Amino acid sequence: MKDYEMVVGLEVHAELNTESKIYCNCRNAFGLEVNTQVCPICMGMPGTLPTLNEKVVEYAIKMGHALNCKINSVCKQDRKNYFYPDLPKAYQISQAEVPLCENGHLDIMVDGEEKTIGVTRIHIEEDAGKLLHDESFSGSLVDLNRCGVPLIEIVSEPDIRSSAEAKAYLDTIKSILQYINISDCKMQEGSIRCDVNVSVREKGAAEFGTRCEMKNVNSFSGAVRGIEYEAKRQIELLESGGKVIQETRRWDDAKGMSFTMRTKEDAQDYRYFPEPDLLTIVVDEEKIKALKASIPELPNKKVSRYVKQLGLSQIDATLIAEAVDKSKLFDECTALGKCSPKIISNWILADISKYSNDTGKSIIETPLTAQRLADLLAEVEKGSISNSAAKKVFEIILSDDKDPADIIKEQGLVQNSDTGFLEQLAKDILAENEKSVADYKNGKTNALGYLVGQCMKASKGKANPGIVKEIVTKMLTE
Ligand SMILES: [Zn+2]
Repeated sequence: MKDYEMVVGLEVHAELNTESKIYCNCRNAFGLEVNTQVCPICMGMPGTLPTLNEKVVEYAIKMGHALNCKINSVCKQDRKNYFYPDLPKAYQISQAEVPLCENGHLDIMVDGEEKTIGVTRIHIEEDAGKLLHDESFSGSLVDLNRCGVPLIEIVSEPDIRSSAEAKAYLDTIKSILQYINISDCKMQEGSIRCDVNVSVREKGAAEFGTRCEMKNVNSFSGAVRGIEYEAKRQIELLESGGKVIQETRRWDDAKGMSFTMRTKEDAQDYRYFPEPDLLTIVVDEEKIKALKASIPELPNKKVSRYVKQLGLSQIDATLIAEAVDKSKLFDECTALGKCSPKIISNWILADISKYSNDTGKSIIETPLTAQRLADLLAEVEKGSISNSAAKKVFEIILSDDKDPADIIKEQGLVQNSDTGFLEQLAKDILAENEKSVADYKNGKTNALGYLVGQCMKASKGKANPGIVKEIVTKMLTE
């Protein structure tokens, strides 16, 4: 078999979290009773006129800056004509030749290697409604609440060469959308969806192969599986002497397969033309600059700062930087300078993430402030409380909303690190356990753990286990 490589381009649609819809004053909210967030404009009644929501343009420009795009300060909107029952106007207002943002790029990390993916364009458009298929009803119903919800479409260059790169690209896009706070990114609510273009070619070939577009991909894991499925399908086709035909396919996540939707012969002609009911978009340069200045430190920059300046591993740095809430807590906590970045990162990625996953709460919605976390971890690093005591304090902070110092005092959790006291304790325990001492001296090294355990027990868990272990080891080898 020849050596193939896949060539993938992605079109990500992200719903923007503006208060109102793109061309009317209806609320932009998910999950409300069907057909209640509608008006004549978003229902496409004849004679109504759209008015562009300025926030949509601002949000899209922010994303353009975050993805290093050129911003087109003058651009227009176009009608994309097609008929579908969830689109009452029978056209979608989008942008054809001149998008709001273009020629950008995004750096992603895959297996510790940085790679740049080109971003062709970002344009603004409106979402369509949703068809509801109910078994109790012999037909489909339509909910128009989503008509006119603002979207940005982010189109990548065909620079992606593996499903892992696609995953990294999608994860990075999602995390940037959250950092600049323009989309709530709830996949289960359809806030981010993507279309995937896949072709394969012999490794090193200059020309691209014939590509297929896959629609209906509602999750990142679905995109990864869809890409792998599609590349494999095309390679098998070529290897068996067949030819890939350009077509649009539908990804069925439940079956893990894609199916032909339409071929090139019946490809849709959208008859794009300039939207006559809307003015040209003109954004002044001052505003474009101000929006650029409002972009916070983005995940890529954070990862490299965490690794280079704070000594975190690439994996830990990525896991923290990817999530806005985790990086916020981490940044605030390290800025206090009370404990090492390493212990903060360990706690955020273990106990705090677990709590957040178990309860579904964001870690910044809890009584665990950065100050409290730093105070608690400083006590652990000083050795004045044990790691297990710290876990107990952590739980009490979350349930009782108290400061760590008070909890440590109330619960009597202060660890005994007094060497004189601990030496006497160890001496007593060794004297009481002659057999274990003899075992140790005969090479049964696990007797050490038993003896340390006895010391801890005798101190009711208050002894500093690290110091006890040192003392017992020293006494046994003397
Ligand atoms: Zn409306």
